[in-house]
Amino acid sequence: MGKIRIEGLKKSFGSNQVLKGIDVTVNEGEVVCVIGPSGSGKSTFLRCVNCLEDITAGRVIVDDRDLNSKDIDINKARENIGMVFQHFNLFPHFSVLKNIMFAPMELGKLNQEQARETALRLLDRVGLADKADSFPSQLSGGQKQRVAIARALAMNPDVMLFDEPTSALDPEMVGEVLGVMKDLAREGMTMIIVTHEMGFAREVADRVIFMDGGYIVEEGNPEQIFGKPQHERTISFLEKVL
Ligand code: ADP
Ligand code: MG
Repeated sequence: MGKIRIEGLKKSFGSNQVLKGIDVTVNEGEVVCVIGPSGSGKSTFLRCVNCLEDITAGRVIVDDRDLNSKDIDINKARENIGMVFQHFNLFPHFSVLKNIMFAPMELGKLNQEQARETALRLLDRVGLADKADSFPSQLSGGQKQRVAIARALAMNPDVMLFDEPTSALDPEMVGEVLGVMKDLAREGMTMIIVTHEMGFAREVADRVIFMDGGYIVEEGNPEQIFGKPQHERTISFLEKVL
């Protein structure tokens, strides 16, 4: 029984079919890294898992709930799925603390006192206890991304989705963000991570999925994908990025 089951997922934008039939099961506590060339549909795939896109065909089932069935409360379902974006998407006019407190309070999940406690605990966890009263503009990219991770965690999700979380960062800040993600993986968080950090994928992923042209071309454990890729397209992609 997978925590996330994706069956026959297709997604088109107008006449552009971006996802052409994706089947994936992600088990509880599993870390899945998705790699592949630009434009292959990785972001669209993640956005479909988080209901940020209406899907064209197929099913996305999280915790045995079909996210596209008519009788599901989509906002409720999404509360259990945290998402972190390449460009952080923090609220610029809110302090760091308020960025993290906002969603759980707005959605009535925590009262102000609880939200503050949670935010401070999460800031400590991502190594930013001293930044509670700062504003996003006063933070480095790596710090912003760690706040964004803390903000996603404030909803107490049991799945985390990451879309190239380190791609917008200066190289010296990549490690601090990957470090937080490694901690989450160790703690058993179920994660799907779109990344170009092949070293990270190799070290942390239980499974690596190579996407190209709207399909999953190949998947396997890091050993298989990075050590003995089978498909021509996987081989040529890895030759370019490694
Ligand atoms: P990747 O993340 O692998 O680079 P994306 O999922 O972002 O790929 O994009 C795959 C394709 O989907 C691209 O051709 C892109 O132009 C198209 N696409 C993505 N989002 C939209 C959208 N909102 N409207 C129209 N086309 C889109
Ligand atoms: Mg993308």
